[in-house]
Amino acid sequence: MSSVDDIDEDKIEVGKPREWAAGVPGVTHALGPAFRQMGVPRSLKALTAMNQRDGFDCMSCAWPDPDRRKTFEFCENGAKAVTWEATPIRIPAEFWAENPISELLTKSEYWLGMQGRLVQPVHKPAGSEHYQPITWDDAFKLIGDTLRGLDSPDQATFYTSGRTSNEAAFLYQLFVRALGTNNLPDCSNMCHESTSHAMAETVGIGKSTVTYADFARADLIIIMGQNPGSNHPRMLTALEEAKEAGAAIVAVNPLLEAGLMRYKNPQKVRGVVGAGTVMADQYLQIRLGGDMALMQALSRRVLDAEAARPGTVLDHAFLRENCVGLEELREHLAHQDDGAVLAATGLRAAEIDELADRYLRADRVIITWAMGITQHKKAVPTIREIINLLLLRGNIGKPGAGASPIRGHSNVQGDRTMGIWEKMPPAFLDALEREFGFDPPRVDGLDSVDSIRAMRDGLVTVWIALGGNLVGAISDTVVAEAAIQKTVLSVQISTKLNRSHAVVGDQALILPTLGRTEIDLQATGPQFVSVEDTVSAVHSSTGLLPPVSDQLLSEVAIVSRLARAALDGTASIDWAGFESDYDIIRDHISHVIPGFADFNQRIRQQEGFSLPHAPRDLRTFPTPSGKALLTVNELEPLERPPGRLLLQTLRSHDQFNTTIYSPNDRYRGIKNGRQVIFVNPEDVAELGLISGMLVDVHSEFSDNVDRVLRRFRLVAYPSARGCAAAYFPEANVLVPLDSTAEGSNTPVSKAVLVRLEPSR
Ligand code: SF4
Repeated sequence: MSSVDDIDEDKIEVGKPREWAAGVPGVTHALGPAFRQMGVPRSLKALTAMNQRDGFDCMSCAWPDPDRRKTFEFCENGAKAVTWEATPIRIPAEFWAENPISELLTKSEYWLGMQGRLVQPVHKPAGSEHYQPITWDDAFKLIGDTLRGLDSPDQATFYTSGRTSNEAAFLYQLFVRALGTNNLPDCSNMCHESTSHAMAETVGIGKSTVTYADFARADLIIIMGQNPGSNHPRMLTALEEAKEAGAAIVAVNPLLEAGLMRYKNPQKVRGVVGAGTVMADQYLQIRLGGDMALMQALSRRVLDAEAARPGTVLDHAFLRENCVGLEELREHLAHQDDGAVLAATGLRAAEIDELADRYLRADRVIITWAMGITQHKKAVPTIREIINLLLLRGNIGKPGAGASPIRGHSNVQGDRTMGIWEKMPPAFLDALEREFGFDPPRVDGLDSVDSIRAMRDGLVTVWIALGGNLVGAISDTVVAEAAIQKTVLSVQISTKLNRSHAVVGDQALILPTLGRTEIDLQATGPQFVSVEDTVSAVHSSTGLLPPVSDQLLSEVAIVSRLARAALDGTASIDWAGFESDYDIIRDHISHVIPGFADFNQRIRQQEGFSLPHAPRDLRTFPTPSGKALLTVNELEPLERPPGRLLLQTLRSHDQFNTTIYSPNDRYRGIKNGRQVIFVNPEDVAELGLISGMLVDVHSEFSDNVDRVLRRFRLVAYPSARGCAAAYFPEANVLVPLDSTAEGSNTPVSKAVLVRLEPSR
């Protein structure tokens, strides 16, 4: 067990934000913790296998791998993720007796994670304050008995994190549907659900329309609501290559972020001793919630340019043959209110003109985005407007161009492909029925927000999580925790401790599982798994380190045994066979899921394979009309009463989703603390506050519930006027459960209306 101290917010240090990312500090912050926690030999063994063809896939973000791999094909945050998982530090048996649940609830995510790897199954019995060791057989029996004792399988909900492999995810959804429910919430519900919704509607598929190689072919890359320097750091290398090939880069983001300003590539001499590469040629510090107005203003300028120079601006052939809705869009944007655009974006007209000019001069344009776009109330229409802009000049389905949502967790996209979704289409369910001979449930299940509501209301009483930290990831922390505490059984399948293990039902189980780095040995020999990255490339992942404990089971083994315990032979599926040989699972996947024909053979090809993508590959659009859809979306200004700010939640640099690697955020100048709120200096002065003081942050929502963060340090920071930012998961407290994005039900973690009051 680690002897790490928890974070002492009184020791926080606030310095100046950095204006460049990576460089030599990127290397020292990657390797220092690895060498200290894993030792040099283990570190080198793990890190040189990471993202290599015969190695394991980084368990952190879903950024793709280049065709030509370097010896060190990872970034600082990838190294931190490996160190986090492959640490040899183990949680000892006595930990559970020494730390009651009430004590674990007082600890930070950082402290919980630093205790080391989970190495034995543990059980919190009803009425007890402590977890205690349990055998695997007894754990599966408890889950099986509980699930079989429910009046309906819909009284259980089954969460999945984006770390789960394709093979485990496929089995998990199969088990859940064989049990009789579609309650399959996942972490996508909190991140790119808005993307999936908007892109499926407009282009027929909710996935990126670009490949890795497209970045180097683009003339212009617009990066919206995304901080690649901390969240997908190897993307900076692809952007640097694109710049070297002549691309311009435009950043659209409320905060100035180091990685979007300058990148010092630590694998290049000029990145180590030189000035590095200027990233953004234009940086638009847009107001939170202003992206939709910006996209509309750009499309309007494109249409105006076409009117001025008929036949020379739009991609007429593409629009005629492949798209519908142009005239409706033209008519709608003709009435756009320029004043409303400037108010919504907080930008100057000249800034929008400059970006429009760049867009009109570029033949090949990629627009990328992440949570800064997807977690708004109007996220779905905003992404539809991104698609509008791209379609007008034919920037989808041609080399060097496209729409590129960047996913934040390594296999979150693959899990959805495998059927982890509460509303998989009938074609998928029909294929499952043909393959396995049972009738899957046809009624839509619960997503993450609706699962919390159902637990709160007593409709769901069993919660099982294949990885992740739902309590940390979901909005309205107080409500979410109370909801889970009402369950009769909560089960976590995990590698390390997090907050969700401290928020328990009447009974609770923690089932420890193998990490990506570890050898997965089953009855027929060592196994590998597969993952799908953010550009739909599928490749294998093979662990190479001995497991940290011989008590660990793989996720596939846990799901197989769970199914055997709960289904009681009601579905004639060979669960034991799956566990012994993952090729059998892949054979079934190849029969059920389009694009996976000859899966076992093609996944063994060194480079894996790319899934078919009709808009990208064929410029055809699998929408109901068979055409890409240009849409009309009404702009609704965000109201910000006097004395209020719009707050977004974000990550620190030493953070991956809800995992906190350290209490530092060096790119933003923060050390030894996380309870900070970043506010534009002029707003600080206007509010009559002083940078450095402690404030209470209250959010305001129509339900009039006072959601508050107490004693957060106010930090004057270069953000857009009227906008503030604070780290999640801490700031999730401020986001009401009922505040969700229209169409996707994603919690609205961006543009939360807040007021600041000096702390007493
Ligand atoms: S860019 Fe993402 S996938 Fe690549 S090493 Fe870094 S964290 Fe891992």
